[in-house]
Amino acid sequence: MTDCVVVGAGVFGSWTALRLRESGRSVVLVDAFGAGNAKASSGGASRVIRLGYGADEIYTRWAMRSLHLWKELFARAGRGDLFQHTGVLWTARQGHPHGQGTLETFRKLGVAHEALSAPEVRRRYPALRFAEEIVGIFEPESGALLANQAVRAVAREAARMGVEVVEGAVVPPVEGTHLARIAIDGGRMIEAATFVFACGPWLPKLFPQAVGRRIRVTRQPTFYFDAPGVDMPVWIDFTDPRGGYTIPPVAGKGFKLALDRHGAPFDPDSGSRVVTEEEEAAARAFLAERFPALGDAPVMETEVCQYESTSSGDFLIDRHPAMANVWLVGGGSGHGFKHGPAVGAYVTALMDGTDNEPRFSWRSKLETAARSVY
Ligand SMILES: Cc1cc2nc3c(=O)[nH]c(=O)nc-3n(C[C@H](O)[C@H](O)[C@H](O)COP(=O)(O)OP(=O)(O)OC[C@H]3O[C@@H](n4cnc5c(N)ncnc54)[C@H](O)[C@@H]3O)c2cc1C
Repeated sequence: MTDCVVVGAGVFGSWTALRLRESGRSVVLVDAFGAGNAKASSGGASRVIRLGYGADEIYTRWAMRSLHLWKELFARAGRGDLFQHTGVLWTARQGHPHGQGTLETFRKLGVAHEALSAPEVRRRYPALRFAEEIVGIFEPESGALLANQAVRAVAREAARMGVEVVEGAVVPPVEGTHLARIAIDGGRMIEAATFVFACGPWLPKLFPQAVGRRIRVTRQPTFYFDAPGVDMPVWIDFTDPRGGYTIPPVAGKGFKLALDRHGAPFDPDSGSRVVTEEEEAAARAFLAERFPALGDAPVMETEVCQYESTSSGDFLIDRHPAMANVWLVGGGSGHGFKHGPAVGAYVTALMDGTDNEPRFSWRSKLETAARSVY
């Protein structure tokens, strides 16, 4: 019998499978459409890896650890390009609590950073425009991960280490009973001692009782504009509630822009992946306001992905409340990608008997949204 079956080869499941294998366990990793597929939340071309999390020190620690582990894995795979060392710029009004908290955490943990005055932001980033005085924080060590390719690299490394990687959809298990085996469409059954379900936005469908409304899946459009000549690091804006952020051209794509606010409810199987006129208008309005030179920049490509958010934005990493040998790992909440390596290590430690951090517990996940993690 296999020690562990991990269902879902997104960033959380692939890193969990790799870490469990490295701990000496036998592991099978199953995904319905393959690692880093286009429907998965990990399926986009790029994701930001930044260290700033306001006063939420645990995520800064996890991001620091993960950045190191990502680079180590990419070096092993001969794919150093999967991390693009662009740096990350934050902008916010003077005294913004998130900016203040980030600076305090950075000082405490010794994270390399620069606090930029308003004139300094204007001087360094002439393409960026604000009507008011805003300040910046620059993270020189951070950047962008080439997400879908990076997940595939993790799954390949897991396979090289002896994880059996299987493609097929797992039939939803009956909730509330001991799970002895899973069934994969096509008829194969796999018995295991322990099961990890790292199914991202599919978790509410697979476990309607335990997860159901505790994870909300929302539509998240992304735009790639043609913007030659704009020289920017990754940029994250905290000056208004639209939550705009940009990633410079990487992975052969254009200048990426998305708004980090929750869209309409979305079904990862049947939801349309075509952007709407309203979504494009909102993205373009933000772009034109902050980068006047790009007001008419053509859209090169779009993606529609989905967030799977918990009430607070903290991940869900815990046992199923009624199934002692089933672990639920998800709730990436729009910021989980970078943390894949730390999540895999944490799940492995939990299985080895480490206590669960309360903020990742099933019990802490509510059915009403009150986002506090950014
Ligand atoms: C537009 C967008 C931008 C984002 N930007 C960032 C960012 O800049 N930085 C950052 O850190 N994070 C970011 N995130 C969040 C991050 O991408 C997610 O938190 C993370 O990818 C979630 O990974 P996951 O492994 O939990 O889920 P997924 O990647 O969705 O993986 C789940 C997997 O489970 C499989 N599966 C589901 N059901 C079954 C079944 N029945 N049988 C077998 N397999 C199954 C699926 O095929 C899928 O591969 C962003 C997300 C989006 C959508």
